[in-house]
Order: sequence, then C-alpha cells, then structure tokens
Amino acid sequence: MTYQETVWDESPSLKSYTLANFREIPQIQKLSEQEQFEMEVVGNVLPFKANNYVIEQLIDWNNIPKDPMYVLTFPQKGMLKQEHFEKMSTTLKNTSDKKEIANVANEIRLQLNPHPAGQMELNVPTLKDGTKLYGMQHKYKETCLFFPSQSQTCHAYCSFCFRWPQFVGMDEMKFAMKEGEQLVQYLIEHPEITDVLFTGGDPMIMKARMFSKYIETLVEAKLPNLKTIRIGTKSLSYWPYKFLTDDDSELMLDVFKKVTKNGLHLAFMAHFNHLTELSTPSVKRAIQEVRATGAQIRTQSPLLAHINDDADMWAKMWTKQVQLGCIPYYMFVVRDTGAQHYFGVSLAKAQEIFRNAYKKVSGLGRTVRGPSMSATPGKVQVDGIVEINGEKVFSLRFLQGRNEDWVSKPFFAKYDENAIWLDDLKPAFGEKFFFEEELEQKYGVKMSH
Ligand SMILES: *Cc1c(COP(=O)(O)O)cnc(C)c1O
Ligand code: SF4
Repeated sequence: MTYQETVWDESPSLKSYTLANFREIPQIQKLSEQEQFEMEVVGNVLPFKANNYVIEQLIDWNNIPKDPMYVLTFPQKGMLKQEHFEKMSTTLKNTSDKKEIANVANEIRLQLNPHPAGQMELNVPTLKDGTKLYGMQHKYKETCLFFPSQSQTCHAYCSFCFRWPQFVGMDEMKFAMKEGEQLVQYLIEHPEITDVLFTGGDPMIMKARMFSKYIETLVEAKLPNLKTIRIGTKSLSYWPYKFLTDDDSELMLDVFKKVTKNGLHLAFMAHFNHLTELSTPSVKRAIQEVRATGAQIRTQSPLLAHINDDADMWAKMWTKQVQLGCIPYYMFVVRDTGAQHYFGVSLAKAQEIFRNAYKKVSGLGRTVRGPSMSATPGKVQVDGIVEINGEKVFSLRFLQGRNEDWVSKPFFAKYDENAIWLDDLKPAFGEKFFFEEELEQKYGVKMSH
C-alpha cells in the first residue's frame, strides 16, 4: 500500500460514500457489474458508509476482496443469508420503487434480531417524575450510557455493527437525547453512577461546539458521584483528522482538557478492529493529541471472522497499542444480531485465539479481558475450556452483571464446539445456570437453552 503523506498531511476534507454514490468510487468502478450489484443488494438491507480516508489509506486494493479493512467497511455478499440475499436481489431486479424496496428491506431486517440483549425493554431508565429516558441505557450499576441525538451516525460504518438498526432508520432517534439536563437529573437521582459513557453512533461525529455543551452541563453540575466521562468512538481509526486538522479539532481537544482539568477521568474508549488502523502517521499523531489532553485511551474490538480471527494479529495489535500509549481493554464476541452468521466465531475458537494472542504480549498488554459476550444477563467472559470429572466444559464468568452479585463467580457450561453465543450453551452439572432463576423472576427473561 502506498501512503500519500504529502496529500494527506494537508487538511483533508471528509468525503463520504453511501449506497447512493458508492459507484463513483474509482476503485469500485474496477469491480465487475455483478460485484457492484451484490454490494447494492446487501447495502439495501444493512447500513453502508465509507470515506476517503478509509478508501485511500486503510484499504489495500491489491488485496480485495480479502482485505480486512475492505470487509470491515464494504458490504459483503455473505453478510446476508442466501434466502435474504435472493429476495433483495430479485426485488432490485424487478422494481425501482423505493417504497417497495424499503418494505422488503424491513421485512428482512426484522428477521435479523435487531434488538438483542433486551436493550429496548430492559435498559431504558426512568426519572423519578416518570419520564422515560430513551436516550440513555442503564444496565450496570456504576455506568450509564448516554446517546446524544447529534451522534446518531459514524464517520464510516462497520459491516459487523450491532447498532445497525439505528442507521437504517428502524429506530431513528429512539435512543437519542437532546439535552444534558435530564442526564444530570438522572445522575443526581442515582448516586451509585460513577461513569457516564457517551456513545451513539459515534459521539466524535459531533461538532466540538455541540459536544462541549453536554460536557459543560455535566462538569458544571459538580456531581460528587461522577468520576469518569467515557467516550466510545471509532474516530481515531475512521477519521483521525477530527483531532488534527478539522476546523474544530483544537476546540475538541480543549473540551477534553476541560474534563481532565476539572478532576474527572476522561476515558477515551477507542474501537480498533485491526492493526492496519494503527498504521498511518495521522492516527499516531491523533493518539498523541488526545493523550496530551490528559485523556486515557482504552481499546476494544470484537473478534470477527473475515477481519481479525488471527491470534498473531491481535498480539501485534495489543503490543502496538501499548507502544502508542493505549490500554487494551476488551475483546468481544460478535453479538447475536445482523450479520452474526458471517462474522461470528465459535466460543471455542474465540477462546483459543484470545489465549494464543494473550500469551504473546507483555503484562502491559494483558489488561485486556475477553472473549466477552454482551448478553442479556451481563458481560460473560469465556475463561477457558477445562475437563472436570471427565466432562469437557466451558468455564465462564460475569465481567458485568445485571445484578452486581453475579460478577466474578465462575460457572460452567457443557462444551459445544459450535456454540457462538450464551444462548447456545447448556448448563454443566445441573439444570440451570446459577443466575437463571433471578433473571427470569426479576427481569422476565427466559434463557432459550
Ligand atoms: C459494556 C457496557 C458498559 C460498560 O462496562 P465496563 O465493563 O464498565 O466497561 C456499560 N453499559 C452497557 C450496557 C455495556 O454493554
Ligand atoms: S463505529 Fe461503532 S457504532 Fe459506528 S458503525 Fe462501527 S461499530 Fe457501529
């Protein structure tokens, strides 16, 4: 890959590509009409957005269709099951009626488990006056998620994204809040919360002026319980110029300083799915700029077939992150939504990849935890595969639980080499997992095993 530093060191302006204009991308024009059509079929069901930085600096066009950055950002045929693919393909061949296409798309989307882990019903918090806060989620005691209405998109979309329904208009603005005041009110009512996590979409899509309003409201409220503001973002890897040359980059960095100068921890939760995303001079400079504000960068990614199911790559990625001053934090298991059948890796393989990568890095890289499933009862880590009394089992534990008391208690499931999610697992040494009864009684959730 040739890196065009001279061009890119000036102030690049963001150019986005979606379903509407992706055929204008010169590299895409080199693909066959059939390949472009396949992209269109998938892109009509699942969200698709790429930009000039990803296209020109991250994707190795000599390595497509296998290139991980290409698979990460461009729709792949296999992301739809065959029946769904054919349905949309037939529809596109027979009609150009937008409504009809949208109806078929929605029909397919509803079969892709758009709302996993009970996030619609179970995690929406309520103020004491009865107001439902659809722009927030509060699942784990100490940390609440906040979805500003202006961050309902990202600089580019990841093909595996579990938030995909937000981007195709299925729950437009469902998880979104305009005002920081309600957030502050909720934090006053819930002194157990120490962390607020700004998420989206990507909060770093917001103009600094907008983001600073939220931050000012939070910081100026001087809440004794609030210790940490977290930002969940993929901006470093999809648009590092947000912190380098965009017209509000300095202002954004000043907002970060405002947080840290006021004695709060600013945890920058950066999504990096592949080593390539850490390779350009611009991402390295952007990391330095963010760290210079006093923010700490932590990193996370799911383990994805076709993109990063490779222990060596993970070991190199964690080592590179430590070198750049970032703290490896989570390796996730692909969620049970959208194109899970395409990106999913079995729990057995995920554990093996995790272990093979983990053992290759120094202790400073072993801050990472995983592989972890963000499931309805909590974040469940696959600790390992062991044999107990002649029975092969998965050893599991909660890293986070709907009930904090579940955290860090080992439990066991029958070994199943094909299992890819918690729901596929059956309890070992008993009828039920230790948390199941409470999950059912308190939260009305029945496990499907
Ligand atoms: C992962 C997650 C968090 C944060 O968990 P940490 O382990 O503290 O990073 C908070 N809320 C939800 C719903 C999550 O999925
Ligand atoms: S950056 Fe996050 S929210 Fe945005 S598309 Fe990727 S996974 Fe989804």
